[in-house]
Amino acid sequence: MLESATVMIDLRSDTVTRPTPAMRAAMAAAEVGDDVYGDDPTVNRLQAVLAERFGYEAGLFFASGTQSNLAALMAHCGRGDEYIVGQEAHTYKYEQGGAAVLGSIQPQPLENEAHGGISLARIAAAIKPDDVHFARTRLLALENTIGGRVLPRDYQREATEFAHARGLATHLDGARIFNAIVRAGLGEREAVAGFDSVSICLSKGLGTPVGSVLVGSRDTIERARRWRKALGGGMRQAGILAAAGLYALEHHVARLAEDHDNAQRLAAGLAALGYEVEPPQTNILYVKVPPAQVEPLAAHLRAQRILASIGPRTRLVTHLDVPAAAIARIVEAFAPFAS
Ligand SMILES: *Cc1c(COP(=O)(O)O)cnc(C)c1O
Repeated sequence: MLESATVMIDLRSDTVTRPTPAMRAAMAAAEVGDDVYGDDPTVNRLQAVLAERFGYEAGLFFASGTQSNLAALMAHCGRGDEYIVGQEAHTYKYEQGGAAVLGSIQPQPLENEAHGGISLARIAAAIKPDDVHFARTRLLALENTIGGRVLPRDYQREATEFAHARGLATHLDGARIFNAIVRAGLGEREAVAGFDSVSICLSKGLGTPVGSVLVGSRDTIERARRWRKALGGGMRQAGILAAAGLYALEHHVARLAEDHDNAQRLAAGLAALGYEVEPPQTNILYVKVPPAQVEPLAAHLRAQRILASIGPRTRLVTHLDVPAAAIARIVEAFAPFAS
């Protein structure tokens, strides 16, 4: 009880993780230079390591996943072009419409299937013919994981082949691609097969304070580098941040399996109490909370020093700073409000 009164558990997102002492030591020791001049050896190493591991020619470090996705969209599409995207996709729904606002790119949002992709029939129907009335359809953007779900591999192959056959480029928002990789037991290159570019977040489950890396062809990355500068994303001695990424790639990838196990145990515990839980595939689970219980449950969790975004469809996220030992305490805190 004493412990439950003191230690905060934060289930709002895997972005809340703090750099570990060892990660901070790696950051403090980083060799740096001016990255706008291409002179930061640690940034260059991070970019090269991720490009190599995922099988692309080049990589580019960004301040955030939002910036990395936007620069990628702008590298693939010009003014008056269009990209096809899921209604639930981060680049469409959670990035303030940046593609349209800052990129002059028209989004063509389409309904997501239960597995997280977009049906080929819907994509086919949305591709515009070359006609003066229409925007030029240039790109298909998908996301993996999406809402914690791993995009099915067969779907990924079919969708990217289909897009390429119709002359579209393909971009993957792989903010949590390492969760998909660990869950599905895939190699990095297998996991992103078919995509012309991939945005990878280091500051989610991997636990760094800042950073995303875009990987793609040399040409795509050069265009993205120009846009990054215009977007205010040209950083100077950013090796301090990139060092955290290199550290995380070595020490925080395999352990994502613990987050997935914890999510499973949390789901099982809540289901045993009578909650309706969407079975998690990775580190994100959704649980139904009766509307009348939302306020009292939220207040009770706050009093128990458990932070969570409670709503009718509550999202709970496990991560580096949610130890396995915390799961029982979380389940216990939900118990009084089970139906
Ligand atoms: C978090 C996230 C991003 C954006 O990352 P920020 O660093 O928060 O800008 C992009 N896509 C997905 C799927 C994400 O979860």
